[in-house]
Amino acid sequence: MNATLTRRNLFRAFRPGEATAAPAERVAQIGQACVEPRGVTCRRCGEACDVAAIKFRLMRGGAQPYLDISTCTGCGECLPVCPVSAIALADRDRAILAVSLAAEARP
Ligand code: SF4
Ligand code: SF4
Repeated sequence: MNATLTRRNLFRAFRPGEATAAPAERVAQIGQACVEPRGVTCRRCGEACDVAAIKFRLMRGGAQPYLDISTCTGCGECLPVCPVSAIALADRDRAILAVSLAAEARP
């Protein structure tokens, strides 16, 4: 086997049953520093995520990234590619709460 050495592959090596494992305890959380809503095209995090957990919602003047929490494995591959360090790993429950509050605040 000639697998590329990435954090994700290491994560999988230690969790061979990942596909059927319990949901990740920590997931990605995208903060306000993201440049996409300000009209700067980036989307590096979306490209770095092998399971396509980061999606983008078009909005006036740019796009808003958001996380599919049920898909995110918490591997952390999206963190180092962000040029403004807008992504962190957060407790799953806290991330769900943040997504709920953001949805309520949306017009
Ligand atoms: S932590 Fe991993 S699975 Fe979750 S959004 Fe980032 S790259 Fe995707
Ligand atoms: S990599 Fe960072 S700045 Fe770029 S779209 Fe993702 S969160 Fe926004």
